[in-house]
Amino acid sequence: MVPCHSPSLLAIPGPSVIPERVLRAMHRASPNIYHGELIEMVDTLWPDLKAVARTKHSLALYIANGHGAWEAALANTVGPGDAILVLVTGRFGQGWADMARRMGVEVETIDFGKRSDADPQRLEERLRQDGAGTIKAVLTVQTDTASSVINDVVALRKAIDAAGHDALFMVDCIASLACDRFEMDDWGVDVMVSACQKGLMTPAGMAFVWFNDRAATARERVSPSQYWDWRDRSQAQIFYQKFAGTAPTHHLYGLREALDMLIKEEGMEVCWARHGRIAKAVWAAVDAWGEDCMHHNITDPTKRSAAVSAITTAPGVAGKLRAWCEAEAGLTLGIGLGMAEPDAPDYANYFRIGHMGHQHPPMTLGVLATIDLALKAQGIGHGNGAVEAAATVLAEF
Ligand SMILES: *Cc1c(COP(=O)(O)O)cnc(C)c1O
Repeated sequence: MVPCHSPSLLAIPGPSVIPERVLRAMHRASPNIYHGELIEMVDTLWPDLKAVARTKHSLALYIANGHGAWEAALANTVGPGDAILVLVTGRFGQGWADMARRMGVEVETIDFGKRSDADPQRLEERLRQDGAGTIKAVLTVQTDTASSVINDVVALRKAIDAAGHDALFMVDCIASLACDRFEMDDWGVDVMVSACQKGLMTPAGMAFVWFNDRAATARERVSPSQYWDWRDRSQAQIFYQKFAGTAPTHHLYGLREALDMLIKEEGMEVCWARHGRIAKAVWAAVDAWGEDCMHHNITDPTKRSAAVSAITTAPGVAGKLRAWCEAEAGLTLGIGLGMAEPDAPDYANYFRIGHMGHQHPPMTLGVLATIDLALKAQGIGHGNGAVEAAATVLAEF
C-alpha cells in the first residue's frame, strides 16, 4: 500500500463528516453576544430548524449532545413515578429507557431484538390493556443507529390512535434527521429529539427538542429544573434565555451554514432522495461482496435506514477491515455497537458504515472502494463488482 498522507475520513454513524464550508463558517473571532449580527443570525435558525423537522410547533436548543436531548425531553414531560413505554430495537432505545429509569420514571420496554423494527400491533395491544391511561408517553427511535433498522413512525402513531390512548409520542431522530424522511406534524409526533453532529453536519455540542402543544401542556404537570426547562428556551424574551446562558457562538455559525446547504440550497425532499440513493449504493456493494463475506443486519431493505448500515461479516473480517482501513487508508469505519461485547470473539464480526450528513458520490464511492481495497489487500474472499454496483445505483439518481 502506498503511504497515506490524506486527512482521515470518518464513515461512522456520528459524528459525521463536517463540510469545509461549515468549518470555515466557524473560523472567526468571538462575536458580541449582547447585540448585533449574532442575535439577528440566530433568529434565522429557528424557522429552518423547524423546516428540517417539518413542524410549526416549538423548539428548544441545548448545549448538549444527543443524551442531553433525551434528558431534556424526559424532564419536560414525565416525572418520578410516571409510567412510560419504550420500544427497543437496539442499543439506542435501550439507552433512552435506561436514562428515564435513572430519573425515577417507571419504565416498561418492549424489546424487538437487534434485527427487526418495532411491531405496531404489539404496541396497540399493550396500550389497549392500559385503559386507565397510566402510560404517559411512548418512546421510540426512528433509526436505531446500532441495528440500522428504521421504525415506521406513521404506523406506530396509528397504533396509538387505534388503541385510543393519549400517551405522548416521543421520537428520537438523532441518527435519522435529514437522512430518513420525517414529518413531525403530519405524522402526529408530539416530541422529537435530535442533535447537530449527524445529519446536521455540525460538530457535536448542540441538541434540539421540538415539541407540540400537547407536550407543552405536559410540561405544566412536571417541574423541570431551570436548565432543562424548555419553556424559557423556546419563548425567550432575552437572547441569553435561549441557551440558559452564553450562546454556543461558533456552533451556531456552523449550524447556519449547514442549514443553508440543507434548507436553502438542497431542500429536504432532495436531501432525503440523496440519502436514499446513497444508502442503496452502499447496500448494492454489500450485496456484491456476497454472503460468504458479509451481509446486512437488517434483511428487508424497506426496514433499513438511509443514515447507517450495520453489517455482519464472516468471522473476524469486520475487525480486519476496520483495522486495515484505519491504519493504511485513513478511513474510520464504525464498530458494531451492541452486537457483541468488546472482549467477545464475535465482536470482530460486526461493523457499520455511516452515510449520514455530508455525503456525495466521491465520498461514498471512496469509502466503498477503500473497503474493496482492504478486502483485496488482506486476501479476504469477496464477490467482485461492488464499486461498480454502487456506481450503477448512483447513476440512476
Ligand atoms: C448518536 C445517537 C444518540 C446519542 O447521541 P450522543 O450525541 O452520542 O449523546 C442517541 N440516539 C441515537 C438514535 C443516536 O444515533
